[in-house]
Amino acid sequence: MKTEKRERYKYQMHLLLRLIKIYHGFAPELWWCVTAQAMLQVAGPFVNLYFSARILSELIGGRDAQRLGSYVLLTLICNLTIFLFSQGIGKINSVAQSKVMWKELRSVGDTFLKTDFENLGDAGYQNKKRYYLERRTMDGALCWGTIYNVQRMVKGICTIAASVVFAVPAFLGYGGGTSFFTSGLASLLMLLLLAGALVCTVCLNRRQTEREMQFYKEFMEGNRSFAYYSGECTQYKHGKEIRLYGEEKLLLEGLKKSLDIDRLGKKGLLTGFYEMMKAGLGMLLSGCVYFFIGARAIAGAFGAGMIVQYVGAVTQFTGGFSEMAGGLAELRGETPFIENYLGILDSRPVKYQGSIPVEKRDDNEFEIEFRDVSFRYPGSSDWALRHLSLKLRIGEHLAVVGRNGSGKTTFIKLLCRLYDPTEGEILLNGIDIRKYNYEEYLELFSVVFQDFRLFSFSLGQNVAAAVDIDRERAASSLGQIGFGDRLKEMARGLDTPLYRDFDKDGVEISGGEAQKIALARALYKDAPFIILDEPTAALDPIAEYEIYSGFEKLVGGKSAVYISHRLSSCRFCDDIAVFEEGRLVQRGGHEELLAGEDSLYARLWNAQAQYYAEHTEEEDTLGMEPVYVS
Ligand code: ADP
Repeated sequence: MKTEKRERYKYQMHLLLRLIKIYHGFAPELWWCVTAQAMLQVAGPFVNLYFSARILSELIGGRDAQRLGSYVLLTLICNLTIFLFSQGIGKINSVAQSKVMWKELRSVGDTFLKTDFENLGDAGYQNKKRYYLERRTMDGALCWGTIYNVQRMVKGICTIAASVVFAVPAFLGYGGGTSFFTSGLASLLMLLLLAGALVCTVCLNRRQTEREMQFYKEFMEGNRSFAYYSGECTQYKHGKEIRLYGEEKLLLEGLKKSLDIDRLGKKGLLTGFYEMMKAGLGMLLSGCVYFFIGARAIAGAFGAGMIVQYVGAVTQFTGGFSEMAGGLAELRGETPFIENYLGILDSRPVKYQGSIPVEKRDDNEFEIEFRDVSFRYPGSSDWALRHLSLKLRIGEHLAVVGRNGSGKTTFIKLLCRLYDPTEGEILLNGIDIRKYNYEEYLELFSVVFQDFRLFSFSLGQNVAAAVDIDRERAASSLGQIGFGDRLKEMARGLDTPLYRDFDKDGVEISGGEAQKIALARALYKDAPFIILDEPTAALDPIAEYEIYSGFEKLVGGKSAVYISHRLSSCRFCDDIAVFEEGRLVQRGGHEELLAGEDSLYARLWNAQAQYYAEHTEEEDTLGMEPVYVS
């Protein structure tokens, strides 16, 4: 049990030291400032104790005006110096702390941007993120608590050191006295009393930290709901439903429940209780110290003036010890958060990344081959893809169709190395794609996913997916995809901000416009492989067909992969792969697949065509062209 505790303690110290080093990397001046500030905070009271004792002794004793004057002057000079240094170092310290805070937040964002995609979908990884963000919402960045408590510890240690120097003479034996209080035994008893009080302080601090951490845990759950409800309330895109379905009561109720004022009150009471206990203990001890030192002074061990220094020093000692023990207990209480933060930083990409450059071939001769590929998502026991073998040469246009959940998107995710196959291999020009330089490999693909995202940047930056834009290329990509007229209407053109998060002149674009911008982004990238993974799923089948077949004209000599669960959208393609339950079950042209005996494609086609036929009869009456029903 003891070794377990020791190991735990060692582990906590190891984490803390690692964090301290990381913060040092963020702002090298930080720990110097923290130490200097702590020392200055300690110096003030001790300077005053020192001179007060001398001034008092002088007043009671020699009353030498010149000496008195110089004591007063020195007190003033020292206090002024400490004050000025404290102000200066305090400022540098607070700037350093802000720097650390921003860098800490950035380090988390940076890790999330660079980590393997598969980590982002992992529940454990998501929990880490949530834990960090909840802690941040509650208390700001992790660094605030850590720096504050390290400073408390440094201050505590310095205070202890100074008070030992100041108080030791009060406990030394005084030969001449006959009183019990001047005896060594009295000093020993007083020291034992002090030690007992210190042990009590440590226990109280530890108990307080444990209980507060328990509160934190419960708070974080409330905080999670609070963040959710308050976030939803303010979202423009949720405003319609909230108003139309009168959901504001539902949200407000949730908000009220999650903001547990009673719990906050209890936390305040708990802290108050422990602080009161510690203060009471401190007072009791001070009373004993006053008594002991007063009695020694009366017995003639030292002059009355020195009572101030000794009593003050012993009181400072207990205060310093309390600071040090409190800081340490809180730092140990922070262990789960520190561990979580370091865990996030450690989740750097682990995916194997090869070094073979992807040849920038002039002839763009690329061939992709899936060789008996099977795949299970991490943590899942079901196969999302099973024994998939398929080749795709540059310039070929492939449609992948199949019911929802048949593995079409998974096929694309594997193709783009967002995940690696569980079994089998994917080859580019005969070499396993894992062996290629990952970034260069990704350059081969322009993908528009069903759940594509645009950001609150300018239109041009969204199209270029970069800060610096090739304006001509961006405008031409938008023009090709049918966004040209809309672009002309925009007063700020490519510089028009999307959405209104940062700019009141931002435009709220429609779903259809967003799709066009996402498609333009794929064209702008000008990669040899273009993939459309149902970005048009929200559109009706006619619009989807028009976009797919229109896009086909833009693709030219590049390779293209079109994904859809609506067979009609892809029938223009000569090469259609039919997926079912993660397997490739048919491949061929539209007519060929329709003709196949017991053909899944034919069954799906007929089922869907029937629906479209009924559907389009209705649309006919509205004057719409049935574009694709055979
Ligand atoms: P499709 O694109 O054909 O609709 P998907 O490739 O998205 O199908 O999904 C194939 C299978 O993999 C489905 O059973 C789906 O539930 C499962 N799946 C998809 N994404 C994940 C994921 N992130 N984790 C676990 N299972 C997933």
